[in-house]
This record gives sequence, C-alpha cells and structure tokens, in this order.
Amino acid sequence: METILKIRNLVKRYNNETLALNGISLDISNGEFISVIGPSGAGKSTFLRCLNRLIDPTEGTIDFLDYSVEKANKKELRKIRAKIGMIFQHYNLVSRLSVLENVLHGRLGYMSSFAGIFNLYREEDKKEAIEWLCKVGLEKEIYKRADELSGGQKQRVGVCRALAQKPELILADEPIASLDPKSSATVMDTIHKNCKQLGIACLVNLHQVEVAKNYSTRIIGIKDGKVVFDDVPEKLTDQMIKYIYEGKESEMYQKAIP
Ligand code: ADP
Repeated sequence: METILKIRNLVKRYNNETLALNGISLDISNGEFISVIGPSGAGKSTFLRCLNRLIDPTEGTIDFLDYSVEKANKKELRKIRAKIGMIFQHYNLVSRLSVLENVLHGRLGYMSSFAGIFNLYREEDKKEAIEWLCKVGLEKEIYKRADELSGGQKQRVGVCRALAQKPELILADEPIASLDPKSSATVMDTIHKNCKQLGIACLVNLHQVEVAKNYSTRIIGIKDGKVVFDDVPEKLTDQMIKYIYEGKESEMYQKAIP
C-alpha cells in the first residue's frame, strides 16, 4: 500500500479559543477504509474538512499525493479537490437540477470554467455518470429533479457524484446520520463496495460504532481533538468505546492498572 495522505501535528483553533484539533498525526494509504468515531464535538468534522481545506488548519502539515494541502494556492487547491470526493450528511445536491446534472458536477474540477459555466460536459462523462447511477439502482431517477428523491436516493446521488470525480480519496462526513437503517445500509454498502473495487481510500465520520466495525479496515477514535484509538476494528473493545465516548483519561489508566 502506498501512503497518499500524511498528516502531521494538525491543530485547529476556532476564534482563537476553541481548540477543535489538538495535534493529529496520521498516515493514510490507498485501499484503506477508515471510520472516524468519537462523541459530538470531538473534532471529527473539523478534521475531515481540514483535509480538503474546507476549513483552514491553524497549524500542521497535510501532504496529499504530491501536494502540500495547507500551503496550496487557489489553482493547486482546485487540483487537490478534484482528486478528493466529498460526501455530506445533507447531501449538498442542487435541488432544482436533475440527478444526472448533480452527478456531472463531480466532473467540474476537471473542466475549464467556461465549459463548466455552460455545462459543456463530454459525452464520455455523461455516459459514465449514467453508468454510476444505474450501478447504484437509480436508473429510473436519472432525469428527475434532485428534490424529488428520498434521503437515501439523494445520498446515492451524492456517492455517484464523488465517484464521478475519479478520486484518490473520499471524505464522508456523517453520510448516514439522516437516513433510516435500510437506506443507511444501502449507502454504506455502495460507498464501501466501490472504494474497495477501485482502491480508493475512504475516511468516513460515523456516529454508529457497529457500522464502523462492520465496514472498516481501521478505526480512528477522536476525543477532545486528539487521536485516542487507531487500530483494526477487532481491537476496539467495549471498554475502549466507553472511554472514547464517556471516559476521562484517569479512568482509563485506573482500569489499565490491575
Ligand atoms: P464533531 O464533528 O466531532 O461533532 P466538530 O468538528 O463539529 O466535532 O467540532 C469540534 C469543536 O469545534 C466543537 O467544540 C465545536 O463546537 C467547535 N466548532 C466547530 N465548528 C466551529 C465554528 N465554525 N466556529 C467555532 N467553533 C466551532
């Protein structure tokens, strides 16, 4: 496996007070499917959003492929973001546009602004977008407006848009938090299956520990802006889960000492 993302001492302070990320260092390779878990406010969303500079980090370095993300100028950032697909909790679709057009938005990062403004998508891109939609079971929805879809269908469009980018990395920020269990399973299956087939690294923020355990090759636990667990799912014991979500540091030490 090849390291595609190298994060060193990532710190994020909001408004000079809230310390949301307190020195995160990680290496991530292609083919890894990583769940990021932790209580609300732990810094999971901030962490993911720093990786493609939706949020500017305060300190630290992020190397993605040959790019320095934290130093990237506008032009480099466009290239970086073209290679990083993002899936959002609330889908971020353009509701008045068709499902197909929403998926084609995944190609915008590779087009000139002129072609983008006038929706001059290549036939090949359209064909591929339709193929993605058929693959995720949305063949009947291709020409519907995005706002006619159910939540689960919208998220599958979100997944297709990310995949249409031909990304090296997918960031999914609570992709199933607004979905019922059945749609959640379909969406997670779709993300997982395609990332695996294509060797795309995936970082997914999740609330549900069981889902994280089911799909991941690696689980990262974040608490108070720090990584407190980073291992294979089999190592995530009930005691560790309790510590990540509720415990204080001293409790963990007390339990570790017989
Ligand atoms: P999580 O995704 O784990 O719930 P977040 O990354 O959303 O955590 O938040 C981490 C911390 O940063 C929290 O204390 C939160 O209140 C704070 N925070 C998040 N976004 C902002 C913001 N835009 N401005 C100020 N504080 C923020």
